[in-house]
Amino acid sequence: MAVLFHNAMVIDGTGAAPFAGDVLVEGNRIAEIGATGKLALHTQAAQIDCAGATLMPGLIEPHAHLSFIDHTAPQALSDMPVEEHLVATLRHAKLYLDQGFTSCFSAAAAKPRLDVVTRDAIRAGDFPGPRLLAASVQLTVTGGVGDLRQQHLDPGEAMYTLPCDGPFEFRRAARQACREGVDVLKLLPSGDTSTPALPSARTFMVDDEVAAVAEVARQQGRRMAAHARSAESVKMCLRHGVDVIYHATYADTEALDLLEAQRDTVFVAPALSVTWTRLHEAGSYGLPSSDASKARIARDLDATVERMRELRRRGVRVLPGGDYGFRWNPHGRNARDLEFFVELLGFTPMQALVAATKWGGEIMGMPQELGQVRKGFLADLLLVDGDPLAQLGILQDRNRLLAIMKDGVFHKASINITQCPRPATPVPRN
Ligand SMILES: [Zn+2]
Repeated sequence: MAVLFHNAMVIDGTGAAPFAGDVLVEGNRIAEIGATGKLALHTQAAQIDCAGATLMPGLIEPHAHLSFIDHTAPQALSDMPVEEHLVATLRHAKLYLDQGFTSCFSAAAAKPRLDVVTRDAIRAGDFPGPRLLAASVQLTVTGGVGDLRQQHLDPGEAMYTLPCDGPFEFRRAARQACREGVDVLKLLPSGDTSTPALPSARTFMVDDEVAAVAEVARQQGRRMAAHARSAESVKMCLRHGVDVIYHATYADTEALDLLEAQRDTVFVAPALSVTWTRLHEAGSYGLPSSDASKARIARDLDATVERMRELRRRGVRVLPGGDYGFRWNPHGRNARDLEFFVELLGFTPMQALVAATKWGGEIMGMPQELGQVRKGFLADLLLVDGDPLAQLGILQDRNRLLAIMKDGVFHKASINITQCPRPATPVPRN
């Protein structure tokens, strides 16, 4: 199958200026790109008159939790039986694709096999959803963030994290996750904004625990991602080759230097939205719960913003991905992160789009074929009614997404598609 997008305003994802052009898709790849009207008429192609609408790469979510359930407290994740939980995860996968996200890098599943099964079902064509790198549950420590056990009560495997202690247990947990097919091993080495008793600036995993997971990741060719808000957690992760650092809230000068030194391989994603909304939009859910909690959340947010501005100045790839999947920060609003990047971090709209497309292809591990409108790249494309550079917010409006294509196949096409006229005389074969 071939599709010709005719008369589009192309934003190619590299940061280059938009241009009026035609894009030909053949099979699942972008076959040709040319100025409007300049591509040779392709006799078999279905043709779309884009009428000046924006054609851009599909959005890429670098911090997805498809199995989070727009909950207020994490206990809700253990309360949900695995069958219902899988259905919810598949529903979110479709929602992300509906919103123009054609790829997701998972930042942890809420039960061990939810991501893996969802990824495989999407890949097999059984359910609609983005390209997905599947993650493990979050590996934490006894008493660390996400350890919901109490002395008298253990939710066991239903818990959304897996507490491990010492390199032996971390190694076994990592190997089990690899056995079940994850692409990403997720670590939880630091405290968090959501857990006052375990503040963001504290570190809870120790060096040989991170080293044990890193050894398994290297041997088995998996990626690593870490919730690392404290300075020491960032440094510990970087010493052991963790690929994706989430938050980096209290990165000190030494941590910033290490990030800069590894900027060609490491990715940072602050997850601004979950903290911003916790501070400003979660009032009806009792957040912040006190003046002290308000001050603590604001401190975490300000510190994160300051670090991200500095990292960007140092040429480190800072990606969106706002930890969506909480009641006050629900699934589906993911493109809002691009606005936070402009408003809080000083990105231009174009730079925010590059972070969500080209750099997205890089974090997905497919820099040569994903995240750009470029000849030979995978045909993951959005046709947008309007100019996202003038108004980034339109990317959050599903009605403005005229067409969503993943892997050369339309997930949505609310536009007229016509068949190109065939030549009058049949072209002789051979
Ligand atoms: Zn997260």
